[in-house]
Amino acid sequence: MIKKIWIPAVILFVTLTIIALDGVRIQSASNSQLSNSAAMPRNYIIDAGHGGADGGAVAGDVIESDINLDVALKLDSLMALFGYQTVMTRDTPDIDYPDDATTLRKMKNADSRARRALIQSTPNAVLISIHQNKYKSPKANGTRVFYAVYDGSKNFADRVTTTLNQAISAQKTYTSMPIDKDIYLMKQTNCPAILVECGFISNPTERELLQTSEYQIKIAAGIMSGVTTADAPDNISETT
Ligand SMILES: [Zn+2]
Repeated sequence: MIKKIWIPAVILFVTLTIIALDGVRIQSASNSQLSNSAAMPRNYIIDAGHGGADGGAVAGDVIESDINLDVALKLDSLMALFGYQTVMTRDTPDIDYPDDATTLRKMKNADSRARRALIQSTPNAVLISIHQNKYKSPKANGTRVFYAVYDGSKNFADRVTTTLNQAISAQKTYTSMPIDKDIYLMKQTNCPAILVECGFISNPTERELLQTSEYQIKIAAGIMSGVTTADAPDNISETT
């Protein structure tokens, strides 16, 4: 059972810390395995969805890939602060494509292959992919966590669903769902994997919130709180 006091405390602490650090990323040298007692620590792969030539969903002048990166960077700083080992699939808006990637499709394919290779070559990995949602109705709102078929993914997604909704005081909550099997990055994943839709950029109110540091920190803290309750291998591997 997650104590509700934990998440507000984390958000306050993280907000103060991030303000103090002024956005400086805490290097992994500070990783001291504060909360991971496993003999072989997990490597959390933080994936900022889209990027480079692929902006993802667009609403007005708001581009999904930018918000994904902002949230992913905050999650990365936060997890490093708490002693977790993290790897980012990208930490800038741009992506280096191979010379033969001459069309958007080729660029996206090359990028997807590179991310998948990173995931598959990272030992003891857990994937957290960050995305924003879009829907034709501007009223659609809220977060949704999807999970891969790999053992432990659903359990992890359920934990993050709970802690994320608490962190943002969600009015509307959705249960976790299996991820679309056509999403390349999630195909044949060899590790527990979730995809977090942090909110709807098609909803004007949520779009404004999603662009603020305060809300992005809440989302990052909410996701990480799910990790802290699931980081022990026995927990993340349990199937429910
Ligand atoms: Zn997306």
